[in-house]
Amino acid sequence: MALVGLGYYATNQLAPALQQAQRCRLTGIVTGTPAKADAWSQQYAIPRSHIYNYETFDQIAENPDIDIVYIVLPNGMHAEYTIRAAQAGKHVLCEKPMAVSVQECEAMIAACREAGVKLSIGYRLHFEPHNREAMRLGQGQVFGAVKVVEASFGFRIGNPDQWRLDKELAGGGALMDVGIYAIQAARYVTGEEPLSVTAQEAKTDPVKFREVDETLFWQLEFPSGAVAASTTTYAANVERLFATCERGWFELGPAYGYDGQRGRTSQGPMDFPIITEQTLQMDDFVDCIVNDRPSEVSGEEGLRDMKIIEAIYRAAETGDKVMIA
Ligand code: NAD
Repeated sequence: MALVGLGYYATNQLAPALQQAQRCRLTGIVTGTPAKADAWSQQYAIPRSHIYNYETFDQIAENPDIDIVYIVLPNGMHAEYTIRAAQAGKHVLCEKPMAVSVQECEAMIAACREAGVKLSIGYRLHFEPHNREAMRLGQGQVFGAVKVVEASFGFRIGNPDQWRLDKELAGGGALMDVGIYAIQAARYVTGEEPLSVTAQEAKTDPVKFREVDETLFWQLEFPSGAVAASTTTYAANVERLFATCERGWFELGPAYGYDGQRGRTSQGPMDFPIITEQTLQMDDFVDCIVNDRPSEVSGEEGLRDMKIIEAIYRAAETGDKVMIA
């Protein structure tokens, strides 16, 4: 596997997670920074012939030691590099959000289909035990039908010069970056696709958040009658998933970060191990390739969230209830 973009997530989460993987290993890197190439080459014993930059990227096609390319670049670059990796004949893992528009997501799915390669999105929480339990409790109606979900994720963003505040590179603000986890949670707790959304925006720092959203609130309506209310923000830390059902409730907090989840239900605490979900996700993707089965976190799953994200932006902008296609 080759990692593309050696920033925070690749360095601190994915490369260490790969060291524990059973079915894949780090065999290549793509970086525009020569100093990182040297450091990674030494630390992970990656030969020079397996190190690429953004100009030489397409030559990865000739490297038989790289079967999977993992895109860990700013969101606005996901589509281009996913499509180039597919055209190079490599299976693709791409970080969330899948891209910055529905149109890009569709082009990525088409490119992977045409190339005959698999595509999966970095929705690591599908491999995390507390979140899997939330799926089981909700979808399995263990406490009866889910009635109301509150799912929120936000953090206080620092440096005003980072790509996350640049519309072209980020696609949007808190919603694209971390609000997407709350959308995912509402969908995997109910096991349903939302029909419609209403949304409201709050902006307290119009200079820092000139190009992207700072805080958004939204409400989703599901076919069963379940409703979900969410907040995402770059102004403060918030991280929770709460679901109340006909005969009880369950919650996770922290719910989405990678420092360990905790959870409880109306019957008591949850007791699951803290694991490295990224390792499980990467091994699972190898299994999808080897056994030619679809990934639970496929490109189609990324596309569904992007349709909801676009609907939330439209609802916040117009003040109308927006139907989700
Ligand atoms: P980062 O800024 O730390 O890393 C981005 C990398 O891209 C850097 O190495 C940078 O040098 C490189 N890059 C190449 N071209 C660039 C350009 N034109 N502008 C800016 N950087 C450029 O970001 P990150 O936090 O590692 O996030 C990368 C991706 O991973 C994002 O899509 C993010 O949403 C995702 N992510 C996912 C999780 C998760 O838990 N699944 C966590 C963090 C980040």
